[in-house]
Amino acid sequence: MVEECNSPVPGQMMRRPLLISSLLRHADRYFGQREIVSRNEDGSIHRYTWRDCHTRTRRMANALSALGIRMGERVATLAWNGYRHLELYYAVSGSGAVLHTLNPRLHPEQLAWIINDADDKLVFFERSFLPLIAAIAPLCPSVQAFIMLGSRADLPAHASMMTYEELIGAHGGDYTWPVFEEDAASSLCYTSGTTGHPKGVLYSHRSTILHSYSSVMPDAMNISARDCVMPVVPMFHVNAWGLPYTCALAGAKLVLPGCALDGRSLYQLFEEEGVTFSAGVPTIWMGLLDHVRANGLRFSTFKRTMIGGAACPPAMSDAFRDDYGIDVVHAFGMTELSPLATTCTLQAQHMSMTKAEKRRVLQAQGHVLYGVDMKVIDDDGAELPWDGESSGHLMMRGQWVMDSYFKQPPGGALRDGWFPTGDVAVIDADGYMRITDRSKDVIKSGGEWIGSIELENIAMTHEAVRLAACIGVSHPKWDERPLLVVVRKQGAVLDRDTLLGFYEGKIARWWTPDDVVFVDALPIGPTGKVLKNRIREQFRDHRLPTVRA
Ligand code: ADP
Repeated sequence: MVEECNSPVPGQMMRRPLLISSLLRHADRYFGQREIVSRNEDGSIHRYTWRDCHTRTRRMANALSALGIRMGERVATLAWNGYRHLELYYAVSGSGAVLHTLNPRLHPEQLAWIINDADDKLVFFERSFLPLIAAIAPLCPSVQAFIMLGSRADLPAHASMMTYEELIGAHGGDYTWPVFEEDAASSLCYTSGTTGHPKGVLYSHRSTILHSYSSVMPDAMNISARDCVMPVVPMFHVNAWGLPYTCALAGAKLVLPGCALDGRSLYQLFEEEGVTFSAGVPTIWMGLLDHVRANGLRFSTFKRTMIGGAACPPAMSDAFRDDYGIDVVHAFGMTELSPLATTCTLQAQHMSMTKAEKRRVLQAQGHVLYGVDMKVIDDDGAELPWDGESSGHLMMRGQWVMDSYFKQPPGGALRDGWFPTGDVAVIDADGYMRITDRSKDVIKSGGEWIGSIELENIAMTHEAVRLAACIGVSHPKWDERPLLVVVRKQGAVLDRDTLLGFYEGKIARWWTPDDVVFVDALPIGPTGKVLKNRIREQFRDHRLPTVRA
């Protein structure tokens, strides 16, 4: 509960609202020559500076107002990580409208549903999405214009829509960023909606800026004016973890990789642009590691990566650290948390530990950033002790934690003032949080919970395993038992019994999966995460060998 305190003496400091436009103004004024490099859809490289970005962004802000966009109205993007998308980030939010980033990997019907729910007035889209736009346009009556991110020459002959470059060309850069309340809405991102309809999370200028301040801190992203940052995490999902804002705040060079996220294309950018820091989900890094391993390559500037969005398998952080000398910061976040809530780095008390002990600490999801508060509770809402063992529902609150979903009444998403993350976690005495599962992924065996993440992490340390997912399948005696679904590395040989034997001594015996199935691939969702609900559907009727006929 926040206690109101009416101080008898008001402070006498300036009150300047925390607005997103101030980030770009700052980057232009103090880091005007720092570069922004983008890879276009056709593979060509676009290069300019924060100053150029600010100029074009003001032109776009003028264009938006000429198109009749008013404060608070939603303007959508269907775009990769690139400079035009970045300009829209600032032009839309900076002018007081709301940037709605759409995930192009969703089905057309789902996209149309989201566009209608958000009541989007404009949709800016990448050229390659023309067929997708043709499919959704008739379903979206609220959209006044679909605008292609390119110039008229890029439009196919039959298409008649407006283009981004024509708008930029038709408007001057004389624009003064409006000043308004910092609590105003700035951007909207929908959760992926793996269960039910997606829900909108509406960020504010204030929450975005406070999240950026906190993200640059040494124990978080540790981004400075000397860094060259490549967000591999998409700008269409949770604002690329805030990096388009954070880099402007810090004055970092920004590298936007476009749509080519395969290992070879990413490696090329890392080396050619001198990337020092990057962030993404584990499945993306797998492709990069495969590429560098297969070709015997090294990184010359890449020093640190943040991995999150799903549990980072220890085998992956070991490979980055031990084989390539790259520091891995494991992070936990979600759309509703802007997204960053915890990051895992060592503290003073860990310095005398052995390498193995440090490695264990660094596997956790980590410590909160200032501005976020967390606790774990039992089914009745009672807070559980920080003993590293008591696992319960993870609750969060803070300056950039969502209060209610889009169109919900205030506080609509909270329970006693806390946001229930839907994750199950433990917290240790040092305040390090470890996710054991998503509530809906937990395997309930004989009234006890088995954490699927731990079982997956162990499987992925086996040299023949590329990817593993563990799900619960029904069992007449135990309710559920773990089934491990595994993708082997190319050419690797591994059978069920060898893999099950690999668990011996690593976990309590009753946690050992009852069975293993080998598959060619696991289903990956629109944000690059393994879709456990699909795997559960696929193996719903799997007959475990431990079930008697
Ligand atoms: P969705 O995956 O539903 O689109 P988000 O992208 O917001 O939603 O993902 C949030 C969820 O991702 C968290 O609730 C948690 O289950 C999972 N997650 C995020 N980071 C981690 C992590 N480091 N370890 C384990 N799970 C994570």
